[in-house]
Amino acid sequence: MTTQKHAVDLPGMPRAALAAWLRENGVPESHARGLWRSLHVLGETPARALECLPEKHRGRLAPLCETPRPEILRESAGGDGLTRKFLLRLADGARIETVLMRYDGRATACLSTQAGCAMGCVFCATGRLGLRRNLTAGEIVAQALVAREALGGAGERLRNVVLMGMGEPLANYDNVRDAVEILCDSGGLALRRARVSLSTVGIVPGILRMAAEPRPVSLAVSLHAASQEERAALIPAARRWPLDSLLQACREYSRAARRKVFFEWTLIHGRNDTPDSARTLAALLRGLDAHVNLIPLNPVAGFGGRPGGSEAARQFQEILRRAAIPSTLRQYRGLDIAAGCGQLAAGGVHPARREPGFTGAD
Ligand code: SAH
Ligand code: SF4
Repeated sequence: MTTQKHAVDLPGMPRAALAAWLRENGVPESHARGLWRSLHVLGETPARALECLPEKHRGRLAPLCETPRPEILRESAGGDGLTRKFLLRLADGARIETVLMRYDGRATACLSTQAGCAMGCVFCATGRLGLRRNLTAGEIVAQALVAREALGGAGERLRNVVLMGMGEPLANYDNVRDAVEILCDSGGLALRRARVSLSTVGIVPGILRMAAEPRPVSLAVSLHAASQEERAALIPAARRWPLDSLLQACREYSRAARRKVFFEWTLIHGRNDTPDSARTLAALLRGLDAHVNLIPLNPVAGFGGRPGGSEAARQFQEILRRAAIPSTLRQYRGLDIAAGCGQLAAGGVHPARREPGFTGAD
């Protein structure tokens, strides 16, 4: 994996870190407020934001924070008029996608946390890319700013963020945690922590770290199968973090955070949409404060599975209901612009996968 060399990731610094950085560089901390406001309220680039500092400091600090804002290469609008997808180019040429959804009067941004993903789930387009690199906290925050700007004209506020775009957020823990802190800062986007959801493939140590955070965000776990064997066939990472330890970590999170755990279940015809699968799932989740999100498989190149049908989904939900497990059947959204779950591939096969000697820049 290559890591981008940022001198200083200014837009990715939580408020306290920003103040400390100014102090270390001989700038009075009193300037932190103005700098923060420029970055996170006005959404300025680092270079523009630094203009609020006195000239004598600016000249010295500017070369340290040259990171440009991600460039929007393409914007696609779904035929439903409610989904928009942004293809962004980062400073080193890596490409990621961000999705803005406006359903039921709520605006939600789906943010990427990595360029590509190392987890290799067989049904996911991002997984086919391999991992290029972790995103910096600033690059994660910048996606929310892109979404907010896109909403601007509509006068709507960005209220929800789901860390469910490209990549595995718990494989980039520290940067994701800093980004969340910035997004939830009352002087910025001011999102409520309960309205930030992190979806993980099931990295057990990461879930336990989340459980130990003073104010954890909502947790969604991509389960997709209720037996270790079936899960490992869909999700290679499941071999490393087996189902029993995963469920134990979810219980610990639920207890410590006093929150329900959301479980994602992609319905694949004949594979995990059967009444038997539903019963095994119900038994697995017994006693846990859980909510199951059922998502019919979205088509991706290279995976032959078909989406579960609506009758199978209805039966599945009925079995869960009888076991007192709430569930929601998610609608197909944004498929015409490949903005659905698991479809984000940032414009094709990732160079990291195609060229073994790949060095990090496009
Ligand atoms: N890496 C994290 C978050 C990004 S994937 C995770 O795996 O949870 C976001 C969600 O899309 C996950 O629940 C994932 O299982 C689901 N997903 C992946 N490919 C899909 C597909 N083809 N159809 C429907 N959902 C898919
Ligand atoms: Fe990575 Fe999530 Fe896709 Fe699996 S489903 S490959 S963890 S992005």
